[in-house]
Amino acid sequence: MDKERKYIFGPVPSRRLGLSLGVDIVPYKVCTLDCVYCQVGETTELTIERKEYVEVETVLAQLKKRLADSVKADYITISGSGEPTLNSKLGQIIEQIKKITDIPVAVLTNGTLLTDPAVRQDCAKADVVLPSLDAADEQAFEKVNHPHKNLNAQSLIDGLCKFREQFSGQIWLEVFLVEDLNTDTEQIAKIAEAIKRIRPDKVQLNTAVRPTSQKDVKRIDKQKLEAIAAQLGQSCEIIADFSSAQPPRHAPKQDQQMQTSEIDLDAVLSMLERRPCSLDDICSGLNIAKDQALHYIDQLQKQGVIGSAEKDGTTFFLADH
Ligand code: SF4
Repeated sequence: MDKERKYIFGPVPSRRLGLSLGVDIVPYKVCTLDCVYCQVGETTELTIERKEYVEVETVLAQLKKRLADSVKADYITISGSGEPTLNSKLGQIIEQIKKITDIPVAVLTNGTLLTDPAVRQDCAKADVVLPSLDAADEQAFEKVNHPHKNLNAQSLIDGLCKFREQFSGQIWLEVFLVEDLNTDTEQIAKIAEAIKRIRPDKVQLNTAVRPTSQKDVKRIDKQKLEAIAAQLGQSCEIIADFSSAQPPRHAPKQDQQMQTSEIDLDAVLSMLERRPCSLDDICSGLNIAKDQALHYIDQLQKQGVIGSAEKDGTTFFLADH
């Protein structure tokens, strides 16, 4: 396999963004938080220090190459295997992406660094920003997000409010609910209060339907999630996918042959390095038939670079880090 680091992954089918072509601009699990529900793995470097981290030119060259393959994507999403706002060149990267494509740019962030005016300025260059807010007091923040010692929930909320004041694009706020950690009535009331102050365009509720870094993370049941969604107002929707089988969004090509090329294996592996994916996720993200996806999974398993995990009856494949 090609050992050069791959910064571009997917497209990944996303309930929030349709087909999302990912751009990963921080190394594996460099993050300001170590959330119990993280799907990528445990944080290896807990930091709030912004750095260049990756070579901007290399990221852009890889993106240009991927776009030249006439890849279909609804969004180019700055996200990946850590917190992207830790990259001090974020603003420059978004500006350069906008010069090479008309596909809208989204930033998936945990929102913790929006207290910094430079981070707000960088994120404001995107079309859509998708921050998170899982807790509205320090105890719940500690329990769910295991933050860096210099972070706190109140500053996070203040940063989100300031960002709303200066950003006219879309803000879709994700609230990830973990049963027994941030789902009691008092905590939900506090989160509702914070949402009123932040004024996001949408609130999107999620829970642990995929494998998580900590094994005992409990998802909240659908009925309870619906009740909380009703409580959080009209702009609130549920994005957790409780169905175990989603049909591929694009019909598989009929003329595909069962060939194994480095590029195809790399594309599957790059997806699985950032998020656990079901067979259907792989098929719809890469627009390939099930038997072809299974062939690639088999190859990657034989190489010992991926494994699998069961979550509520669905098998997810994920890279071994
Ligand atoms: S879920 Fe996001 S913010 Fe939380 S630890 Fe994982 S990468 Fe960091």
